[in-house]
Amino acid sequence: MIIIKTPQEIQKMQVAADLLVEVHRALREKIRPGVTTLELDQFVDEFIISRGGYPEQKGYEGFPYAICASVDDEICHGFPRKEALQEGQILTVDMVVNVDGYLADSAWSYAVGEISPEAQRLMEVTKECLYLGIEQAQVGNRLGDIGHAIQSHAEKNGMSVVRDFVGHGIGRKMHEAPQVLHYGKPGRGLRLQEGMVFTIEPMINLGNWQMKLDSNGWTARTVDGSLSCQYEHTLAVTKDGPIILTEQDR
Ligand code: MG
Repeated sequence: MIIIKTPQEIQKMQVAADLLVEVHRALREKIRPGVTTLELDQFVDEFIISRGGYPEQKGYEGFPYAICASVDDEICHGFPRKEALQEGQILTVDMVVNVDGYLADSAWSYAVGEISPEAQRLMEVTKECLYLGIEQAQVGNRLGDIGHAIQSHAEKNGMSVVRDFVGHGIGRKMHEAPQVLHYGKPGRGLRLQEGMVFTIEPMINLGNWQMKLDSNGWTARTVDGSLSCQYEHTLAVTKDGPIILTEQDR
């Protein structure tokens, strides 16, 4: 069942989103060679709690950390580690912030120092995929329009879309209906209505889309070892177009 949100509920989610955006802005300044993702996790955990929020991923189905920290060929759900980040890596930090029972979810990828031109290109195309998908989040469009916009842009650039993880409705729970696929056919699937709030979070690989799970049962990485990148926003569908709750550039 899809839970349609009132403008008041969307406003409460915006409060959580504002805190989440603040965390990502602070992370931008911290991510560099020599820093560990475990330090970043601790920083995020303390930052969110000090502002009256809660890092919702911590304890979710047993996930042990405030952030997912996925490096290079890790697609998502990477565990923070004590090894230092190295020049040239790409790091995706994903987090969910809870303020007063309302949630916001956003993942962002960061370059660690200088990165290769192909890693740079992957980051650019993945971010373009996210925003092209969001453009399709219009009342009356269908979920397939979002998936198609993302898939066609990734594949046009010789990259691939991970199939195993999808966007999702969000509100008072982290995962609500509907599932938002990052691939698909235009004009297919659920019709979008005002008040739907969900994430779009394409995971794009330089090589093939297939993934394998690490022995920790969480971390997904590319089977072929190729680089993977992800950007994610939480957005609300309104009659005036999509509102990106987790937008950092405003
Ligand atoms: Mg997320």
